[in-house]
Formats: sequence, C-alpha cells, structure tokens
Amino acid sequence: MKTLLASAALACATTLPAYAETIEIAASGVNPTRAGNPAQFTGQVLVDALTTPSSAEFAGSGLVSFAPGARTAWHTHPAGQWLYVTVGSGWVQQEGQPVREIKSGDAVWIPAGVKHWHGATDQNTMSHVAVTPFHEGKNVEWLEQVSDAIYLKR
Ligand code: MN
Repeated sequence: MKTLLASAALACATTLPAYAETIEIAASGVNPTRAGNPAQFTGQVLVDALTTPSSAEFAGSGLVSFAPGARTAWHTHPAGQWLYVTVGSGWVQQEGQPVREIKSGDAVWIPAGVKHWHGATDQNTMSHVAVTPFHEGKNVEWLEQVSDAIYLKR
C-alpha cells in the first residue's frame, strides 16, 4: 500500500509543470527604471519591472508611474489584469462607460477582453502595480491612443 501511494504521488508529481522550488525576489533597484513606450502611452510614464524569472512565465508584473495627464493607450488583456494603486489618484475607463476615479489603496480588476485605459488624473500623479497574466503567450493587445477629448470628458 505504501508503495502504491508513493508511486501515485510520484506519477502526480511528474505530470505537473516544473515549477520553481525556491522563492525568488525581484530586488528593488536591480533592474533600471525605463520609460513607457510612446506607442503605448501618452505623457510621462515610468515602468519598473517586478517579475522574477519564474513568475514571468505566468504574468507580467510591474510598477507603473504616471505623471499628471499621462495614460495608457486603449488596450485589452486576453486573461484580464489586476491593478493595485499605490500612490496618488487616477482614472480608469471601460469603453462605453464613464471614467472612474481610482486612488491609493484601491484594487482594480480588468476582465479579459474588455477595452479600457488607465492613467493619472490631469492634476495628480498615480502609480499602480499591474499584474497581467498570459494567455497563449500574450497578455496585452495595444490599440489607439486616448485622445485629450476622451481623457478630459468626465
Ligand atoms: Mn490594462
């Protein structure tokens, strides 16, 4: 019986993906801060990657800091996205719905396939941690920029 259980456990273990077995830390200050790609953002945006080698298999993760007036382009996520607002106040909008305010301490869930944008308000900075899981190797589809007319209409 003991042998049976042991071989069942072994069979189970060998069919699972090879997850990392040690904790990984993305140490602050190791990866340089980079500017947001101007094809994907309007205004001044800084990105600090937070992924570790193993976590990067499952989701993109980063701290994104928006200057006043800065925002993402319109985009969708094939497997959704979590936003954790760490500093300031900002705006998020789902296409066809009003702009909504988000502030430090808020957690936001963007459902899969929903066209949206997020960014600072026009008067204040906003930073959020974004966790964006992959589906079939992709975690975002970028669309057109958010015009000032859309951004400021609320
Ligand atoms: Mn998003």
